[in-house]
Amino acid sequence: MTAMTKFFQSIRFRIALVFVLLMIIALELLGAFFVRQMEQQNLATFQQQITLPKYLTDQITTALRDKDTDTGNHQIQDVLSGLNNTNIQEAQVIDKTGTIRGTISVSGQQTIGQKTTDINAQKALAGDQSYLQTRTINEGGDRKELMTTPLGATNGRLKDIPGVIVVKASLSPVYKNINNVMKLFIIAGLVALIASIALALFLARTLTRPIEQINEQTTKIADGDYSMVNHIYGSDELSQLAMSVNELSMRIEESTETVNAERNRLDSVLTHMADGVLAANRRGEVTIINQAAADFVGVDREEALGKNVIDLLHLKNKRTLREMLENLDDFRVDLSDDSKDLLVQAYVSLIKRQSGFISGLVVVLHNITEQQRIDSERRMFVSNVSHELRTPLTSVRSYVDALAEGAINDPDMAQNFLGVVQDETQRMIRMINDLLELSRLDQGTMDVKLEVINLNSLFNFVLNRFDMILENDAKNDESPSKRYNILREFTKEDVWVEVDPDKFTQVLDNIMNNAVKYSPDGGTITARLIKTKTRAILSISDQGLGIPRKDLDNIFNRFFRVDKSRSRAQGGTGLGLAISKEVVEKFNGRIWVDSVENKGSTFYISLAYVDEVPEDDWDAE
Ligand code: ADP
Repeated sequence: MTAMTKFFQSIRFRIALVFVLLMIIALELLGAFFVRQMEQQNLATFQQQITLPKYLTDQITTALRDKDTDTGNHQIQDVLSGLNNTNIQEAQVIDKTGTIRGTISVSGQQTIGQKTTDINAQKALAGDQSYLQTRTINEGGDRKELMTTPLGATNGRLKDIPGVIVVKASLSPVYKNINNVMKLFIIAGLVALIASIALALFLARTLTRPIEQINEQTTKIADGDYSMVNHIYGSDELSQLAMSVNELSMRIEESTETVNAERNRLDSVLTHMADGVLAANRRGEVTIINQAAADFVGVDREEALGKNVIDLLHLKNKRTLREMLENLDDFRVDLSDDSKDLLVQAYVSLIKRQSGFISGLVVVLHNITEQQRIDSERRMFVSNVSHELRTPLTSVRSYVDALAEGAINDPDMAQNFLGVVQDETQRMIRMINDLLELSRLDQGTMDVKLEVINLNSLFNFVLNRFDMILENDAKNDESPSKRYNILREFTKEDVWVEVDPDKFTQVLDNIMNNAVKYSPDGGTITARLIKTKTRAILSISDQGLGIPRKDLDNIFNRFFRVDKSRSRAQGGTGLGLAISKEVVEKFNGRIWVDSVENKGSTFYISLAYVDEVPEDDWDAE
């Protein structure tokens, strides 16, 4: 819409138009009435001016009654010549025979004695009352008044009148006067009209300005801008409306702020929730989804909006939207993919309007993967422990049964059987001790006495002991093939670490024991100690059985053994490496393994080393 059409359709224009039209109508009516009135007034005055005074008409009447026409004519001419009226252009005296007896115009002198052609005069002379006393004629573009006055009429009756006098006068001074007044009136009217248009526009503006302001304000409110405040100038209806709109704007702003604050609060709650939350409309299209839920389903939040909740939760062929709305029991959803294991418990609730109409649903997703893992680990652990204890117990029972059944009477056999019972009992005690230690580690109740120690010395100390043991074993062992050789490749620098020396010795013992245990053919065990930029790394390599690649990840799990029977035969519990891992992690260290089956294994431990050595303490020791 152009500005022009907009203006013509505006209230402002319409108010101004009505105002101006009223003004024009009023001016027209007033003007017409006024001019008409003035014209009549002026004409009446003019007629009075050109009416001959009675004494003159009486003299002319007397002259007409004179028997002597010439004398009469002279008398008439005298009277007419004495007339001093500038308005009168012509005055003719006509006797009852219709003969012109006198005239004031010089050019009309020769008409004296001729019959008049004036029909009105003839009518009056004939006693016809319908003659026109005054009439207007147009003569050469000039309006003239012709006034016929009967002479010597008694009470206006025309019977036996001696003659008539016809006076002709120009009306131009009268109309000139009227025209002048009219011109003045038109000019004044035009000025009044222009002034009234301006005034009307101004007045209309004062009326529409507050409306425009309110309009502007409400448009802004609709756009969410509440800053505009209407000025209140009076107490009229529009001012009251402006006041109400101001109030309304304030209320809307307040409630919008409250709603926004609520939404922000809800947003931040949803954002920081560990549980996933998503809301969907009754068609199942997602309308709200928090970050946790988006992470669970592996989709961007923006991308998830509008998607179907059933598709998003991978529930196709498992559950329909209808089932979800009708059955509000929680259920499990497996959201695992190639990159992660993820099991969630989904709790569904409905969004209901006050009328009871269901407008959507909210699904809360609780991650139960860890819980599930812990549960299954615990079940596994209990089953493992029972299994591990049952084997030695069954063995003990069968040997005790055999002894009871008579083997006790055979001293050699009894000795042998008791030896087995002793071994198995020892193993069970070891296992229980290991389990207790693990439990203490799990609960964080293990007593750890951290000390800064020289790792070179501690490692050497452990290795020296093994040297001794292996030497003794070698002496007692008849088979020469099973020879062990411990090689040391230590850094020349001293390496200081903060550990509990007893516990750490236990870890090293376990790894060294394994190196011997799982190298049935002997070989070289290489012990290395190196220093990197920030960490000390020690490693123990053997040339034994090695660990299959598939088992490398499980080697530090509780009760895991590559070969259960071999481990058991060696008196192993399957808990040594699990304890070692926990202990090393207590010192903020890391333990890992590298192995090639049938070639050998290398166990590594890395620890942060200490730069500042408390020399006094060391010296004191
Ligand atoms: P165990 O009491 O059975 O030795 P560990 O926790 O010490 O328990 O070791 C777990 C398993 O890891 C062992 O049963 C064995 O199969 C494997 N293992 C540990 N050390 C070695 C090694 N040096 N060479 C080959 N296999 C090893």
